Amino acid sequence: MNVSPVEPQMLSDLSVASDRGSAALVAGLKAYFRSGSTAELAWRRRQLIQLRKMLTENEARFIQALREDLHKAPQESYLTEISFLYNDIDHTLKHLKKWVRPRKVSSPLLAQPAKSYIKPEPLGVVLIIGAWNYPLQLLLSPLVPVIAAGNCAVVKPSELSPAVSHLIAELLPRYLDNDAFACVEGAVAETTGLLEQRWDHIMYTGGGRVGKIIMSAASKHLTPVTLELGGKSPCIVADDADIETAARRIAWGKFTNAGQTCIAPDYVLCTRHTADRLVPAISKAVQQMFGRNPRQSADYGRIVNSQHTLRLADLLGDGEVIFGGEVDAGECYMAPTLMRCVNLDSPVMQEEIFGPLLPVVELEEFGKVEEFVNEREKPLALYIFTRSDAIADRILSLCSSGNACVNDCMMFMLAQDLPFGGVGASGIGCYHGEHGFKTFSHYKAVMKRKNILDVDLRYAPYTNRKYKWLKMLQR
Ligand code: NAD
Repeated sequence: MNVSPVEPQMLSDLSVASDRGSAALVAGLKAYFRSGSTAELAWRRRQLIQLRKMLTENEARFIQALREDLHKAPQESYLTEISFLYNDIDHTLKHLKKWVRPRKVSSPLLAQPAKSYIKPEPLGVVLIIGAWNYPLQLLLSPLVPVIAAGNCAVVKPSELSPAVSHLIAELLPRYLDNDAFACVEGAVAETTGLLEQRWDHIMYTGGGRVGKIIMSAASKHLTPVTLELGGKSPCIVADDADIETAARRIAWGKFTNAGQTCIAPDYVLCTRHTADRLVPAISKAVQQMFGRNPRQSADYGRIVNSQHTLRLADLLGDGEVIFGGEVDAGECYMAPTLMRCVNLDSPVMQEEIFGPLLPVVELEEFGKVEEFVNEREKPLALYIFTRSDAIADRILSLCSSGNACVNDCMMFMLAQDLPFGGVGASGIGCYHGEHGFKTFSHYKAVMKRKNILDVDLRYAPYTNRKYKWLKMLQR
């Protein structure tokens, strides 16, 4: 964004102007929402089809923008961003008619004759705030259920992925109903202006620090929030794991998008015996994927900016680098890196890494893994590599996490019927498939009564006879 020097007075004028802009925008969207147009099933379907068309007709441009922002390989962008959205939209279009249907439930004897049902209704105008690491998917994947549920929305892409942000801002108004949807670009000031408005729901993806700012702004209007946050996702490797397969899958989970994935394994947890076999196997898997010099690989990503690269470089001192470790802040490059003997009290084990650096933490005995995980914040994802169902089930039942995967990393994201979301410090609420539709709908309880038969048991004056009958009927 180009910012020219301005006087303090001018700055406050600008922020007032932008607040007015946000207020007018939200008022317009609310008025359209109240017209009832967005509740029509045909309208929702049309918008979803248009959103898909926006992606198909501009696929090459999105792939190019993702390359510019994060040096993503086209295949990676296709798998983790674009095809992900195609599947999301197709799945929603296939099931939407069923999801919107009111669901009948029984009515109590005292209320007969009556019909009771639960009717999903749209919430209104939703604010979607995206993050930079999957800048397309994380902004539009929430928009799919927002549309499906019949809402209007403002999307706010991350300023740290400007190429994707500009492209969405350019294309969205060309494809979607402009009375119902808008894209607002910008950073903290613009987001703050948006957060001052009264929304019917706020969907935020990003770190927990800003998550608190979002929740506090939402609380002023009692606006419900969905917070898709992050944290340290442990990757537990048992002694009986298939080491070769585990290594390949962990390397893929950790080093895709140069480790800048909210559900990437943050650290490995295993015994020394397993670490001795796993570390060389992961190093081999990295070389198979990105060659001996990943910097020259067209398939290996870059860190989003030099500030984050320097943050990651600082973490290299928190343990012993076994593999990788090369950093070039000018090029936003950090090699896929493995560390051992990390200091558990140092930043590498206290903060979410969010980069291509994988510490392998060794435990004296494998039986301590649950304790290790449970002493820390509840993670967004938990990975367990083992051949034993008993080990997997024990860890799954003792350790809470937003999502979990046995013998792989991140693959649950592809299952449309699984909810995606955190728990505790890793997030509030969930989406994907019908779970997203539910998040952006209100399930209204409706009872329709008839005027015939008006049993007088509930009306005063209360008598012993009425009391006796009431007790019989309400048993
Ligand atoms: P980011 O810097 O892109 O910030 C996210 C959004 O918050 C942006 O749109 C940004 O403009 C806005 N923002 C930043 N500061 C703000 C402020 N002071 N007030 C209002 N809005 C503000 O992303 P990030 O926070 O660096 O993202 C990384 C974090 O997000 C990691 O913790 C990661 O695990 C998490 N994440 C979670 C998911 C998920 O689906 N659960 C997905 C991706 C990233």
